Amino acid sequence: MKRAAVKRTKKAPAASKPAQRRSKKSPRAVSRASAKRGQSEKTSGQTLLGAHQSIAGGLSKAVERAAETGCQCLQIFTRNINRWDVSAIDPEEAARFREAVTESSLGLVVAHDSYLINPASADDQLRDKSIAGLVTELERAEMLGIPWVVAHPGAAGEQPVETALLRAADGIGAALSATGRLASGILIETTAGQGSCLGASFEEIATMLARIDRRPAFSARVGVCLDTCHVFAAGYPLAPTAALDTTLRQFDRLIGIQRLKLIHANDSKRERGSRVDRHEEIGKGKIGLEAFGLIMNHPMLAGIPLILETPKEGADGKPTPANDRRNLAALRGLVRPGR
Ligand SMILES: [Zn+2]
Ligand SMILES: [Zn+2]
Repeated sequence: MKRAAVKRTKKAPAASKPAQRRSKKSPRAVSRASAKRGQSEKTSGQTLLGAHQSIAGGLSKAVERAAETGCQCLQIFTRNINRWDVSAIDPEEAARFREAVTESSLGLVVAHDSYLINPASADDQLRDKSIAGLVTELERAEMLGIPWVVAHPGAAGEQPVETALLRAADGIGAALSATGRLASGILIETTAGQGSCLGASFEEIATMLARIDRRPAFSARVGVCLDTCHVFAAGYPLAPTAALDTTLRQFDRLIGIQRLKLIHANDSKRERGSRVDRHEEIGKGKIGLEAFGLIMNHPMLAGIPLILETPKEGADGKPTPANDRRNLAALRGLVRPGR
């Protein structure tokens, strides 16, 4: 897709990315985004709520699972995330997936990258593999009409954090450079800061973005995904109102709220500042319903899609759609009238 058609202003750089527009009259919508534009017209004006779904049984199965649970947006892994090897997507399967999405009521589909990918790695071989891995993720997303790949920035290991941040940013930049003709971009996810994982502070995300943004062509293809469990575990308060305000203003000052394209809505099993990444169902963890109520109604977060990555296992230990339905209902129930 030609991104040249997208006019970038300081206020709203990536927000005007055609694939992401949800406006009914999208003047700059361009050909390649037609499927995505189709999605957008279905849900204009609403804050999209959805969940991560498994692609077991085929990519289109995730769309069925999304429908079954009442998702308005969807996140998938486009591959087995625990292996480097990945077989190409059959073009027919990709077409089936895109058609299923078009026929669904989904307003947005995003992908999440493999957990093996570490563009910050000090090991050149692993880093090269990670860059190639990101390229593969972007190509697969593009094939499926998916505008964003959510990616963790990686881990520093023994390196100084500053070195690792620049390596991560340059690795992401290399993947964007190798896929320059694609529309799909990367959302760097905020992390809990477990071990030497990068991205637990807004400053670290900002450092990476500033480096990536030195190539203006990249900046429209890179945004941020804020995970509520991760930022909370990393130490950021999400309630009461004044505390959430401070957290979001910090995000805006360092990163720019217009870079925020997605929220992972997860409660946290562990306390604030624990730096431990354990997702919990909405309202059942240490973040709690009060904070989610504030998040669902905060003006700075208006219109940002939310995706659940909460536990799917029922009492019998097997995944059940009832969990996603319950968690989506919990979030919807917190939206004040008029939002
Ligand atoms: Zn997440
Ligand atoms: Zn997590």
